[in-house]
Amino acid sequence: MLRVEKVIVGPLSSNSYLVYDSDVREGIIIDAGGDGDKIVALVDNAGVRVGYLCATHAHFDHILAVDYVRDVLGCKFLMHKDDVWLLEVAAKSARKYIGDDVPNISEPDGYLYDGYMLEIGQHLLRVLHTPGHTPGSVSIVGDGFVFTGDTLFAGTVGRTDFPGGNAEQLADSLSKKLMSLPDYYVVYPGHGRPTTIGAERRGNPFINLTKR
Ligand SMILES: [Zn+2]
Ligand SMILES: [Zn+2]
Repeated sequence: MLRVEKVIVGPLSSNSYLVYDSDVREGIIIDAGGDGDKIVALVDNAGVRVGYLCATHAHFDHILAVDYVRDVLGCKFLMHKDDVWLLEVAAKSARKYIGDDVPNISEPDGYLYDGYMLEIGQHLLRVLHTPGHTPGSVSIVGDGFVFTGDTLFAGTVGRTDFPGGNAEQLADSLSKKLMSLPDYYVVYPGHGRPTTIGAERRGNPFINLTKR
């Protein structure tokens, strides 16, 4: 069975998740937005080996600790190629927030794309390309849950007024991809508390807007 654990990290309180198979003790990390030591401690406490660190998108509050975590855990960094241009932008905006000593984030070791399958022990997680908040935003779907990054939150959706954002794409990603998942699926967003697809389908004003 897969387990999900989370730590809240970085200057913008983003969620960093560890999803792992508690039998074979293998896992992946989803987003590393800062406080790399907290993320490594989460992995150590769970006693799992991490093969991959995946970024839901390349805003700095989701990738600041990528290099640290990749080095310490020896895992591979994966993200969608449509966000690679944002890596440089991310380092610049991070410097604005937290100071000059933010290094550039290195290139990914591989790319996620729509339909990409991530293996954890016997389990498979499927990548959905869900652009709109950024061009290369992805969601990662397991059996009964989905990591949505900054595409979908409890009660709201991602902003589209940053460079590369696109409101129409976001609406499509929500209606055609995320909202095609079953109601009982747990949503683990990039910020804030978990929710479910059903709760958002019924109660999220931005999703109801895109339906009309
Ligand atoms: Zn973002
Ligand atoms: Zn964010």
